[in-house]
Amino acid sequence: MEISEKNISDQFGRIHDYLRISLTERCNLRCFYCMPEEGIALRPKSQFMTKEEVIRMAETFVSLGIKKIRLTGGEPLVRNDAKEIIDALSGLPVELAITTNGILVNKYIDTFISSGLKSVNVSLDSLQRDKLNSITRRNYFDTIISNIRLLIKNNFHVKLNAVIIRGVNDDEIVDFIEFTKDNNVHFRFIEFMPFDGNKWDWSKGLSYKEILDMVKLKYRNNLTRMEDRKNDTSRNFRVHGYKGTFAIISSVTNPFCGTCNRIRLTADGKIKNCLFSDSETDLLSAMRREEDIIPMIQETVWHKKSMRGGMNSIEDFGKQKNRSMVAIGG
Ligand code: SF4
Repeated sequence: MEISEKNISDQFGRIHDYLRISLTERCNLRCFYCMPEEGIALRPKSQFMTKEEVIRMAETFVSLGIKKIRLTGGEPLVRNDAKEIIDALSGLPVELAITTNGILVNKYIDTFISSGLKSVNVSLDSLQRDKLNSITRRNYFDTIISNIRLLIKNNFHVKLNAVIIRGVNDDEIVDFIEFTKDNNVHFRFIEFMPFDGNKWDWSKGLSYKEILDMVKLKYRNNLTRMEDRKNDTSRNFRVHGYKGTFAIISSVTNPFCGTCNRIRLTADGKIKNCLFSDSETDLLSAMRREEDIIPMIQETVWHKKSMRGGMNSIEDFGKQKNRSMVAIGG
């Protein structure tokens, strides 16, 4: 098999048409499983993609078959030029989506609507004010909840992401599902993953099986296992009669790498062929030198490992050097 001119494929034949662009490493929250306690070293602005460079990168990737772009961070909406970037990207033939912590959504909802951005993922690790404020080390519970309600009211496709951590929020799994009873949202339970500085230890994580056993204990036969879509990262379920749905994202115990179509571009312009890859390619410096970055993109993705950046078993987790989650954007 050869590197294709028409699309971005890897040595296993996976076609990559979904690009996640991190707009910034800055964030207005300090979630303990994402942002190292001491924060991350803020670097000079010159090391990060300007608005024009983000758009040029996106155009290049779209010319190679990218059909969906998700904006991530840090928190993408803390960037002063986030509105211009969203407006500009909305002119490309792609599905535009965003992952946000929800704090600034009310300031951008008109931009989302005018740009045709429909899919909004919001991080929500607890439905309890004090607990959420302690997980995020900031006090934005009310703002986040009211902005989630604003998105639902405006018929956005809302996915709520909760990283499930033993002894922290595993006691809320039923509450999260009950939130889908009258709210048309998609609540996703994410297995705790290792990233630089998050003191990962699998004993703090809950597996797909443990979560599902808890759910079945409560909902028994009132559950429907929904059909997986081609590149799904989650296993989806609906409680009979509930407006919304829920899902489990199991990168640790039950990975879904076989149909992976995702590439990541970091805020400092490096391409990662996998969330867990410990190698990156610096596209930004090459682009600034007016070099052709297309062969670099194809080469980097071609050499993608079959699973989890080469971490084939849980024992491999935490051994590879990787960035902190805030510097990748999930
Ligand atoms: S771990 Fe890597 S290969 Fe697997 S689904 Fe995630 S990005 Fe794709």
